[in-house]
Amino acid sequence: MTVRVPAKVNLWLGVGPVRDDGYHDLVNVFHAVSLFDEVTAAPADALAVTAAAAPGARVAIEGVPLGGDNLAARAARLVAARLGVEPRVALAIRKAIPVAGGMAGGSADAAAALVACARLWDDPADPKLDLDALLALGAELGSDVPFALLGGTAVGLGRGERLTPVPAAGPFHWVFATADGGLSTPAVYAECDRLRSAEGVRAAWPHEPPELAAALAAGDAAALGAALGNDLQPAALMLRPSLRRTLDAGAALGALGALVSGSGPTCAFLAADAEHAADLARVLAAEGVARDTVRAHGPVPGATVLDAAAE
Ligand code: ATP
Repeated sequence: MTVRVPAKVNLWLGVGPVRDDGYHDLVNVFHAVSLFDEVTAAPADALAVTAAAAPGARVAIEGVPLGGDNLAARAARLVAARLGVEPRVALAIRKAIPVAGGMAGGSADAAAALVACARLWDDPADPKLDLDALLALGAELGSDVPFALLGGTAVGLGRGERLTPVPAAGPFHWVFATADGGLSTPAVYAECDRLRSAEGVRAAWPHEPPELAAALAAGDAAALGAALGNDLQPAALMLRPSLRRTLDAGAALGALGALVSGSGPTCAFLAADAEHAADLARVLAAEGVARDTVRAHGPVPGATVLDAAAE
């Protein structure tokens, strides 16, 4: 049983003030792109996780924990507990999504494991875990997990987990510039709070601009590029100043939009078309402003079971 699951880029990430529970209220416009991890689940004596780079992908696999704290393992335990079975499964993860790169790779693997384990253990004649139930389990694991199940383009409110799909014509063509070493998401939020209090800036309620939805609906890449935004970008740039050079290089090459993806350090560039994306990827890599560059398009569907013929 193999499930394929996409990375996300945040087209808009508006960060509100810190809440009493320590989280921030977010307005997140998620967009699923064709950079996929795969998780294969097979019956086994006990829960076990392995991880390897997907063929041709240059991901820093050593950052992926293989114990019980792997998000896919946590997902398997949650499904097993809900269905009243033992989590006897071997999970083999093939990663193409950068690790700790701001593209929600761990959350993607959790979503894939939810779908795979539900298929393994649920009763097909009387399933307990429909999509709504999986979305609820996903929200327990992390705020980016429900979107990895859903895919497409969606606005996420709350911590990001209350999702509403957004109509998007496509495809939009993207280039992602990966960086050496990850950025810790909590550290980036903490830096965002520190910058705001140091500058005396109070977080405004973070609405996404109406131009964003209009650009998505029309499939207008130039308008979409102009409407992109990420409140975490100043904090990510403070923690990783070299990303400024990467963003500037993409802008100088005519990217329609250039921003840090989520909490970074991956940078996302919106291209005019597939050919422009190929040029951007090649030149950014040649200029040495990225560890690696990868092309992808969006929107794409969320976690999908691959049939045996496709595996
Ligand atoms: P986000 O965009 O959701 O903030 P991210 O893309 O920056 O996340 P991830 O790749 O999801 O980061 O990984 C963040 C941390 O989660 C890693 O440093 C790692 O310790 C842990 N982790 C747990 N499970 C996984 C997994 N299956 N794949 C990658 N990292 C995982």
